[in-house]
Amino acid sequence: MSDTATARDAGLVGCIRCARVWPLGTHHCSRCGARLTSRARRGLAWVWFWWALGLLAYVPANIWPMLETRLLLTSSDDTIIEGAYKLATHGSIGVAAVIVLASVVIPLGKFLAVAWLALSVQYHLPSSAKWRHRVYEAIEFIGRWSMIDVFVVAILSSLVQFSVLASVKPGPASLAFALSVICTMLAALSFDSRMIWDLDDEASAGQRDDLAAVEQSAPAER
Ligand SMILES: [Zn+2]
Repeated sequence: MSDTATARDAGLVGCIRCARVWPLGTHHCSRCGARLTSRARRGLAWVWFWWALGLLAYVPANIWPMLETRLLLTSSDDTIIEGAYKLATHGSIGVAAVIVLASVVIPLGKFLAVAWLALSVQYHLPSSAKWRHRVYEAIEFIGRWSMIDVFVVAILSSLVQFSVLASVKPGPASLAFALSVICTMLAALSFDSRMIWDLDDEASAGQRDDLAAVEQSAPAER
């Protein structure tokens, strides 16, 4: 709600690392040493930078082999989707579902969510602050689980190394995938969630102006 006072309204700036508040104009937090900014000025530019880099890395992550399997007579290089398909046809539908969820559904959902959040702040798209905060929290929550795919490959390869006749190594896609996950996490971190409050404040200030204009014009009509 716009009636809630923010630190900026009170002439204060909050430290986003340790939550201590300082008078506006203070540049560094004396308690934890973090840089203080009332709003991340070039925040959205950084969000888009990391977002684009993450998307760029996500393409090879799906095209390059994720798993390089060497058996005594045969060898195969599998992309994420091929690997999931093979697992599913070998009866491990649960593991295949986790891989598809972690490497396709969640990353794509995250790209869309970050883009929507950045666009909605940039172009003042109609939506409630509550909904924007929910999307932001969901992105933050998902972030730490996005590495599941890389862990699956790591565990799978260490399991298979026990056998002398077979070897499984993580392919180049695992590196691209990890890079993509890190970039999307940085994109979410670069987003200053306080921009959502400002947008809400602007919207309610606009509503108040409209109301005042209606009230002013009302007596003249009477
Ligand atoms: Zn601090």
